[in-house]
Amino acid sequence: MRRTLVTNIGEFFTGELGRPTAPVATLLIEDGRIAALDPPGDAGCDRVIDARGAAVLPGLVDGHIHPVFGEWTPTQDTIGWIRNYLHGGSTTMVSAGELHTPGLDYGQLTPDLVTALAEVARATTGRVRWSGVKVHAGTCLLVPGMTEAHFDRLATAGAVLAKFIFFPLDERRDEAMRYSALLRERGIRAKVHTGGVSRSGSSRVCGFETCAWLQPDIAAHVSGGPIPMPDEDLDRLVDETGFALEVCSSGNYRSTIRVVRRLMQQGRLDRLTLGTDTPGGTGVIPRGMLRNVLFLAGVCEMSPGEAVAVATGNTARAHGLDVGVLTEGAPADLVIAGPVKGSAGTTLADAIAHGDLPGISMVLIDGEPVVRHRSGQTPPPETPAAFTDGGGCPFC
Ligand SMILES: [Zn+2]
Repeated sequence: MRRTLVTNIGEFFTGELGRPTAPVATLLIEDGRIAALDPPGDAGCDRVIDARGAAVLPGLVDGHIHPVFGEWTPTQDTIGWIRNYLHGGSTTMVSAGELHTPGLDYGQLTPDLVTALAEVARATTGRVRWSGVKVHAGTCLLVPGMTEAHFDRLATAGAVLAKFIFFPLDERRDEAMRYSALLRERGIRAKVHTGGVSRSGSSRVCGFETCAWLQPDIAAHVSGGPIPMPDEDLDRLVDETGFALEVCSSGNYRSTIRVVRRLMQQGRLDRLTLGTDTPGGTGVIPRGMLRNVLFLAGVCEMSPGEAVAVATGNTARAHGLDVGVLTEGAPADLVIAGPVKGSAGTTLADAIAHGDLPGISMVLIDGEPVVRHRSGQTPPPETPAAFTDGGGCPFC
């Protein structure tokens, strides 16, 4: 049993939309989970992290990534991207499909091939904690002709998500509905590509009408990935449906403002989830999730606490994951961060409201420090957290 105490917390973000911040000054972690908020003074521990007045927030949950094999992505000829995203505060990521696998012919996808591809991704990229990050890979690219046995294979592999992207939804509506039911029976969520054609050149155009009958668990990148659906479709999606709506870094900023403000006006931020939709044509963006938070707060004028909750608890919940909230019993996946020297913000919330990038000093996953001294991707915070016994090795 290993116990870690995080002390002198200046700001505490819960990841819960209903109560996004709380006056918590100390956090006790035991066996990788949050054991207590503000535990009694005699709580013994093996290790103390002094937050030195900084903010503690849940690790960010990137709900839309495109992994290929481990830390390698051929889309931008990059290796080590998961570690770089970790240093941008992301501790959990969910694959929206392994469609960038080199040589994959989107015109020749068969039920066996897409199922096998998801199984391989789950058994490779999804098996290992790359740089410590929880990567949920093995998101099947659904195609016509799949049988119940294919869905059994996905469930056995441990898939959490499947994706309608190449599937001819409007031509094969009954089959798509049957797939949705088979997925739900197995606890696998369904996500649908929306908007115009993606970089693949083969994705189907999808707007309000299709989403309305399909009723996916999550409509992917509704403000564009990269091309958004028409404004009228976007408005109707907000007004007339109730499933999760995802916004990604790859989208159209104008559409993002439109959908986010409409959800805010209706008091339905619980439906909003975030992702980067990278690696891909938008690039490899280690600070992508942070930039999403800053856009929501700085441009869309969402409160910093709500913006963090959307990037953490909301996105995790939509994908059926137990991370993203800092409550007793939850996995201790968290980020310790503060304002960067020279920022307009005197607190992290203040900096985020201003649209200023936070400085990350530590990241913990399941209670274990995976970024121990400072982020390699953000400037340092003015007051970095430190191990009281000096265990914060500056070289890792
Ligand atoms: Zn995507």
